[in-house]
Amino acid sequence: AKQNGRNNYRFFTKAMQETLARNIQLTNALRHALEKDELHVVYQPQVDISDAHIIGAEALLRWNHPELGAISPAEFIPLAEESGLILPIGEWVLRTAVTQAKMWIDSGFPPIIVAVNLSAVQFRHPHLPELVTTILEEVGLPPEYLELELTEAVAMHDPKSAYAIMDNLHDRGIRMSIDDFGTGYSSLSYLKKFKVYKLKIDQSFIRDISTDPEDKAIVNAVISMAHSLGLKAIAEGVETVEQLKYLREQGCDEVQGYYFSKPLSPESFTEFITAQVTK
Ligand code: C2E
Ligand code: CA
Ligand code: CA
Ligand code: CA
Repeated sequence: AKQNGRNNYRFFTKAMQETLARNIQLTNALRHALEKDELHVVYQPQVDISDAHIIGAEALLRWNHPELGAISPAEFIPLAEESGLILPIGEWVLRTAVTQAKMWIDSGFPPIIVAVNLSAVQFRHPHLPELVTTILEEVGLPPEYLELELTEAVAMHDPKSAYAIMDNLHDRGIRMSIDDFGTGYSSLSYLKKFKVYKLKIDQSFIRDISTDPEDKAIVNAVISMAHSLGLKAIAEGVETVEQLKYLREQGCDEVQGYYFSKPLSPESFTEFITAQVTK
């Protein structure tokens, strides 16, 4: 057992060292990713469940490392948060998405609300509400075309201060939604006070929704809770027609997922809307 333990220990440290080395390499490369033009934003359609017309687009960040190729945001966003790089990068995503939304309006498309993910570091930054207003004014986008997605975990980490920040954003006309909903521990009393506009049901509950009775129960509860608080419910990670049917039966308002479209480049998204409005 002792021998085993030692081997495990050595194996563990080697894996740890490799992860650490990769993290340092990625963080250093991330410092220059913006200026080297390695980052871009893709947009995933959010559609009305009743007739599938496009209501919104979630902006999702992509990074193409020159040697390592595409790095998943699940890997590099945490590194950007730890290093503080998420502030300039997040600001760039916000400006890029707001500019894109303005271009879609100016092209005469039906209204599309662009949803941007906010990290904890950005959300807690004292200048965030001012920064968002400044970007909207610079670009000339009315605030109701922007939605900020905040995860339930971040909102509930310190709900009192989250409440104050959301209030400030709400006063500026900016919509907020709660992302990955159902995975945290939302207290109903706070949820009632949060100035949010919709709840995004986490995709982990959608995956087995056709067969798993617990997932069904959670999804039904989230949808009725959203509606009783006057909020919209959107399901993410919808991949099959069975999932879509079930969500429709339960009165879910909106859906997002590969069933309709994967995240698209701005050009492909524009083609996607064009196909819809000329149908
Ligand atoms: P998220 O905000 O929960 O985004 C949803 C993720 O689900 C995206 O992964 C999206 O591509 C993926 N997805 C969409 N439809 C489907 C589907 O039908 N099936 C499956 N299996 N997956 C689907 P992605 O783009 O890899 O992003 C992962 C996470 O990285 C995001 O999760 C978000 O937390 C974070 N992220 C991405 N972009 C940004 C950003 O600009 N800022 C911040 N702070 N975080 C970001
Ligand atoms: Ca999101
Ligand atoms: Ca999510
Ligand atoms: Ca997530």
